[in-house]
Parts: sequence; C-alpha cells; structure tokens
Amino acid sequence: MDRAAVAAIGFDIDHTLVIDNKLERVALLRLLERIEADGGRRSDNLDDEIAHIDALLQRQRKGAFPIEDAVREFAIAHGAEPRDAYVEQFRTMAVAMVADLAIPLPGVREMLRALRERGIPVAVLSNGWNPLQIKKAQRAGFEGPVLASADIGVQKPSAAAFAALLSALGTPAERTWFVGDDPNSDVDGSRLAGLGAVWFDWEGKTFPSELAPPPHTIHAAMELLDLLPLGEEVR
Ligand SMILES: [Mg+2]
Repeated sequence: MDRAAVAAIGFDIDHTLVIDNKLERVALLRLLERIEADGGRRSDNLDDEIAHIDALLQRQRKGAFPIEDAVREFAIAHGAEPRDAYVEQFRTMAVAMVADLAIPLPGVREMLRALRERGIPVAVLSNGWNPLQIKKAQRAGFEGPVLASADIGVQKPSAAAFAALLSALGTPAERTWFVGDDPNSDVDGSRLAGLGAVWFDWEGKTFPSELAPPPHTIHAAMELLDLLPLGEEVR
C-alpha cells in the first residue's frame, strides 16, 4: 500500500491496545461464589474451574455464542438456574474491573496521541461486547468509535466486520490500515477485506506459515508512526 494514502487506521483492542489480565475469567470466578451461595456446586479443584472458564470464554470469543449465553451456560454447568441476574452481575463486575486490570501496552497512549495530532481518524473493531470494550479503549486513551462484534452482529475475520469498520471511519479499504495482534482475525481478515494489514507482534511470535505473510509488521506501538507518511503529506 502507498504509505501516503493512509487516511484512517482501525485497531484491534485486546493484546493490541491493552492487556486485560483475564478480567472476564476473574469475573466468572467471582460469580461462582454467588452461584455456590445460591446452592450451585463447584469443583474442589480451582485449576479445573479456571480451565473450564478459559475454554468457555475462548469459544465465546470465537463467535460460538454471545457473552450472555456463556454466563448462562456457566451457571447451568454449576447446577444453577441460568438467571438474568447472573448475566447482569457478570457484566457489571467485568466492566468495573477495567479500571484496575486493563493496562495499556507501552507506547500506545503516545502513539494514539501522535495520530490525533496528525489528524488521522481511528476506530476500534473488536470481537467482544460493549461497554466492556469501550471502557478498555478509554483506559488506553483511545478517542474514537469502538465497534464490538456483539453490537454489529459479525466477527473478525469476516469481511462484513471490516466493512462495518470502514463505514464508521468513512474511508475506503485501500486507504485504511488495520492494526492487530491476531494473525487470523486481525491480519488475514483485514488483508482479505482489502485493508492495509499491520501485524502488531509485540511478543516476538512466528507468523503462521499457512497464512499469507503480513504486509507490515511492527514490534512496538510507536513503530506504527514510522510506517506512516510524514505529517505534511497527510491531508
Ligand atoms: Mg487481539
């Protein structure tokens, strides 16, 4: 992609702008205390509970079902009724934990500020639910639309998810970049949707050989600025 043509940038959020220290896992573990108090049962082995939670959340994040259904399934698996109150308590606890547990990646705030100063519009596209993802974005100093899959009804890597992002940004795919850590949902998805894909490999991983190589790779947030045209070239 012609660097001078970058008109807007979309971002993944989890493991791209912030890490959340598994706050949804923690919220479900806390919910389990209430389920147990209500007469539900739990394993004596905490590692088993955590493995169960992580597997459930992983299926949920891949789009198998919405977070509300994950909480209901969690309650049923522990011998409790799938009450709406559990869903509400989980959501409330998870959102409240963002302030303490979500940590912006090094350089992210500075990078976002620099993009603001250059007048480059930004938006988040996340496989997740709001207001949780909005709160995380705020924690990273992000100012812009936060599209969550639960709201738009489609998940990355679907081209429809990236179409929703382009619609929010108001820019064509060929002038829009997408930055994310996940080779499949972020990099391959945005590349196939016609965006300029940027792999944010801050953990020094190996890009899967079965996918087309990422057009751009950065290892630190501020490196994104080095890929962009100089400020005076941006109109
Ligand atoms: Mg991610």
